[in-house]
Amino acid sequence: MATTTTRWHELADRILDGGAIDATEALAVLDSSDAELMEVVAAASRLRFEHFGNKVKVNYLVNLKSGLCPEDCFYCSQRLNSTAGILRYTWLNTEEAVTAAKAGIAAGASRVCLVASGTGPSNREVGKVSDIIEAIKSDTPGVEVCACLGALKDGQAEKLCASGADAYNHNLNTAESHYEEICTTHTYADREHTVSQAHGAGLSACSGFIAGMGETREQLVELAFDLRAKGVDSIPVNFLLPFDGTPLEGVDTLNPRDCLRILAMVRLVNPGTEVRMAAGRERHLGHLQGMGLFIANSLFLGDYLTSEGQPGAEDLQMIADAGLEVLQMDGAGQVPHHPATPGTAPAAVPGAAPVTAPAAHEKQEKKVAIRTRGAGTSEPANA
Ligand code: SF4
Repeated sequence: MATTTTRWHELADRILDGGAIDATEALAVLDSSDAELMEVVAAASRLRFEHFGNKVKVNYLVNLKSGLCPEDCFYCSQRLNSTAGILRYTWLNTEEAVTAAKAGIAAGASRVCLVASGTGPSNREVGKVSDIIEAIKSDTPGVEVCACLGALKDGQAEKLCASGADAYNHNLNTAESHYEEICTTHTYADREHTVSQAHGAGLSACSGFIAGMGETREQLVELAFDLRAKGVDSIPVNFLLPFDGTPLEGVDTLNPRDCLRILAMVRLVNPGTEVRMAAGRERHLGHLQGMGLFIANSLFLGDYLTSEGQPGAEDLQMIADAGLEVLQMDGAGQVPHHPATPGTAPAAVPGAAPVTAPAAHEKQEKKVAIRTRGAGTSEPANA
């Protein structure tokens, strides 16, 4: 029988040889002991380096419209009836959006993510975002632009694509079997539909999730396999920021080692897909954040939509400290496209145990730092 050391490397060997991990093995990654953690990271890291070398893709978020959403996603500070003290504003104009994007590009971002709260855009709003995309592309032709505007209506993905958008983000957020626990105003199927519309229009599909919302380990595995089946090109992995004033206020169940295991599991299931460390990485990975870069090949620089990240300069230093390099934009397009692998999503295991809560001494209660600079303010951006 393989020792624990060779067990994870044998799994990586098999995946590197073109094989695949199954749901039982993916669950074993999440269940692995702290003593095995470095071996799990090392195995996932071999896949990361195989597909992405030593490059880190830096993304930069521009929140075009903040708050005031009629949907009720329980984790979201912008949701219906949220009393979180976030910035609330309607659409940035083109000049404001371009200025915000430039701050991220100047700091090294090769992809700008244009995000707006809401159920989904009107055709007029898609026109407005298309103008912004064209302006950003005309200013910096090599940069990738990803739009994230909610559920799309017929023809809107095509319009965004025609204006020069490279990608569309629409997160699945949690497993299908858990979706009713985190939202009542739309369904998992609604989200799947938008991912497929974006993909169908020729946009690179970006779709990820938020860990730490009461889902079981089995549901995290279910989700990772569903993302693989959908053939998404990039997977943002968020860790729940429990905003005061939302239904998930105070929910704080993750620890840094579990976060690394989640990243490793996602990488092992989706070896050649961009895996992006997203919101909550600072809070939940803590001092292990840099280690996450040996699994994920991408991050968001600076602040998030409604919360503050660590200073952008620290993000860049973290990349350099790990011996990694920021991926440069090349103007020729860097967006990978992966064919969908249908039928590979395993069934959820009912009644499974939730992700283990950390020991009380591991984390002090901490409020989420609300973003008060950058887009929608007169303060300089954190980039
Ligand atoms: S996640 Fe999106 S759709 Fe859901 S409440 Fe927040 S802004 Fe609205």
